[in-house]
Amino acid sequence: MQGLRKDMIPAAKPTIPAAKPVLGDDEVAAAVRVLRDGRVVQGPEVAAFEEEFGSLVEGRPCVAVNSGTSALHLALLALGIGQGDEVVVPSFSFAATANAVRLAGAEPVFAEIDPETFCLDPDAAADAVGPRTAALLPVHLYGHPAPMGRLTQLAQRHGLAVVEDACQAHAAALHGRPVGAFGDAACFSFYPTKNMHALEGGMVVVPDAERARTLRLLRNQGMEQRYENEIVGANMRMTDVAAAIGRVQLERLPEWTEQRRTNAKALDAGLAGGLVTPQVADGARHVFHQYTVRVPGGSAVRDAVQRELQAAGVGCAVYYPTPIHRLKPYAHLGADLPVTDQAAAEVLSLPVHPALTPEDLERIVAAADSAACRAGVTR
Ligand SMILES: *Cc1c(COP(=O)(O)O)cnc(C)c1O
Repeated sequence: MQGLRKDMIPAAKPTIPAAKPVLGDDEVAAAVRVLRDGRVVQGPEVAAFEEEFGSLVEGRPCVAVNSGTSALHLALLALGIGQGDEVVVPSFSFAATANAVRLAGAEPVFAEIDPETFCLDPDAAADAVGPRTAALLPVHLYGHPAPMGRLTQLAQRHGLAVVEDACQAHAAALHGRPVGAFGDAACFSFYPTKNMHALEGGMVVVPDAERARTLRLLRNQGMEQRYENEIVGANMRMTDVAAAIGRVQLERLPEWTEQRRTNAKALDAGLAGGLVTPQVADGARHVFHQYTVRVPGGSAVRDAVQRELQAAGVGCAVYYPTPIHRLKPYAHLGADLPVTDQAAAEVLSLPVHPALTPEDLERIVAAADSAACRAGVTR
């Protein structure tokens, strides 16, 4: 197209990404500092990150590992959960929740969620408890805390362990108590799209030093002293490069969390009709890892809304289109979970990350309302 000057083509607005991991100058400088220092695996940065992360979880001991999945896997092993045990989990989560149970040698038993908060329903969890049940594994999905009071009571009644999957919920809280400070173990992820990251990484939080020691052995071939292996362990260590990046991000987490919550409020206020905005339970501090609306009408309507939004330059995603109980490794268990199926057919997550500008938020609201209208969404 000779003669057509670039500035004559109307510029399309750039797409607003669904997530925007931060890897800024401070993170790069921290990584370079560690690389030059040379102590690169499970050294002083990891120890400092563990210590500092404790401030999020009422000072409980923290053990850093290489992913959120490793955190869940080792938490279950440290609690002695394995062959012959069952663990009650929500099916409406990332597959890692159930995979960790299988990797530990136990079987997941899938239970329904609360349709408003998308978190494990305590009544459904109670129905799922049987003679082999060893633990409950609630997920603080999208950054909304699971109902830990009722789940903890249920666990106490049956002598079960509680492992929190807090991989999406850094700094979420329930009645003033932070997630991670409820369970016999709690697991966080530092994957790039989470509320804070360390490239890859995870953290296990436990109530006591003895269990923390077991976890430190499990993540490092069962060794405290080199070549004096005490138990069978894996290599799930965190690198110091990851820890140094995590420390930078941890400092920014309070500011980012407030921004996510402010962005969610703006979306709540702006979205006019059709889409069902996220519900927050009494006493819950939601940290909006995702801002997830329901599109009533089923997956065809939801998918149409998603396509319209993407065409309008608004990144959005479905977490999760297939509930875990319908995935290949778990389908044979034959779980019947209509509330979960309906959620999977209706959810759509809009951008809520801290890098959004007021103009982005206006664009998201306008595009979502018009997409819902065009798809014929009615409440
Ligand atoms: C991300 C995530 C995990 C796994 O964390 P990784 O660091 O990716 O291994 C587990 N559970 C939930 C709910 C998650 O969102």
